Amino acid sequence: MKSYRKELWFQLPERRGFINITPQVMNCLDESGIKEGLVLVNAMHITASVFINDDESGLHSDYEKWLERLAPHAPISQYRHNDTGEDNADAHLKRQIMGREVVVAITGGRLDLGTWEQIFYGEFDGRRKKRVLVKIIGE
Ligand code: ZN
Repeated sequence: MKSYRKELWFQLPERRGFINITPQVMNCLDESGIKEGLVLVNAMHITASVFINDDESGLHSDYEKWLERLAPHAPISQYRHNDTGEDNADAHLKRQIMGREVVVAITGGRLDLGTWEQIFYGEFDGRRKKRVLVKIIGE
């Protein structure tokens, strides 16, 4: 069995945003040389997510509004976590909803995704460098 590991780095200029990272994950798969197996992609931070869905701007705007209704950023004083001096309690909650990681099957050297499935990095407390882990196992 072969294994491959890589960290992808991101720094979003805004507090929140979504990036389609499917091309980077495909590059990792090509580098790994693995044809049959599994790829795990996970955010290495507790205020960011990796998830799979459609690359459609209306949907991404819907996510932003929906998450902001569930866990509004302001007023920051509404969250106990922010008593520590942080202002990112909402980002922890948003990350929990959108998830930490995805696992995708590798078949014939390709990501075995559904028709509209794309892999996204979801940032909820940006403006600093953060990492995503790509781990691939197989043969
Ligand atoms: Zn925090």
